[in-house]
Amino acid sequence: MNQSFMYIKLMFINNQKTINDIIELNGVGLHNGINANLKIKPAIEDHGIKFCRTDVGKENLIEANYQNVVEPILCTKIKNKSGVTVSTVEHLMAAFFGEGVDNALVEIDASEVPILDGSASEFVDAIRSVGVKDQKELRKFIKVLKKVEITEGKKYISIEPLENDLVVDFEIVYSNPLIRTRRKEFKLSDGNLTNIYNSRTFCLYEDIDFIKSQGLAKGGSLENAVVVKGNEILNDDGLRNRHEFVYHKILDCLGDLMLSGFRLFGHVRTSQGGHALTNKLLIKFFSDKSNWSLEKAKLSKNNNQIKNSSKKTLSANV
Ligand SMILES: [Zn+2]
Repeated sequence: MNQSFMYIKLMFINNQKTINDIIELNGVGLHNGINANLKIKPAIEDHGIKFCRTDVGKENLIEANYQNVVEPILCTKIKNKSGVTVSTVEHLMAAFFGEGVDNALVEIDASEVPILDGSASEFVDAIRSVGVKDQKELRKFIKVLKKVEITEGKKYISIEPLENDLVVDFEIVYSNPLIRTRRKEFKLSDGNLTNIYNSRTFCLYEDIDFIKSQGLAKGGSLENAVVVKGNEILNDDGLRNRHEFVYHKILDCLGDLMLSGFRLFGHVRTSQGGHALTNKLLIKFFSDKSNWSLEKAKLSKNNNQIKNSSKKTLSANV
């Protein structure tokens, strides 16, 4: 499938979508080190993405929403009103975003989504293996009306209006000589997420002891994370692409933006951002109703196009 067709698929066929069949995956959690079984099920229109902790007897449903995010340290964790949590949802959420899945129920029998290979590629492969299907209802989009920004010392993030597209401009700044300062831009209309999907989570070798002392990364290994020591990458096969570090940060950002509950059109810029900053931006952005509007995708002017053409039959029109 070429890139321009992917764009049309993503942007102009604006019915809500769910997966065709149940997906089953299992693996260890990066932080808790516990093996979890995932069962991702199709869901009806306007269901959104919800997680269900099947190892918890009641009140086990957790909506994938930015308002439910707690302690976004080194991963994104969501919690319902009864205190039931699920963590490291961001790579799966990014796969839902990129593959156009609006509605799904994710059953999980532990408190952390499997890290798999540290990227989104296995989630994406699993979604593609069953395929996605159009549902009857049209999608809704968040339209950015006003610029909102947050500065925290050297960290910065902003979102501003952009018609019919999502751009994430991400800069990372590390003193490590291999990672250094890198800046890349993701543009939804470019249509190709392959390098972003494949980019793995990473850490500095010298930070591992501290991270573990916080009770995190119990399931971490060279199988699911890139580890950088000085000028060296400790993983045998090196990097998967030249920009794997910054692309992984973009992957995280896309997953966290998917927690807005709808598809979002806007221009996001960030330097040294991460889960916590993206979440703060969403909280600030949605707290003032004059910053945004929720708009339904509309049929294009000529409805005959829908029957007669396989091309731009629907327009986002937001
Ligand atoms: Zn990540």
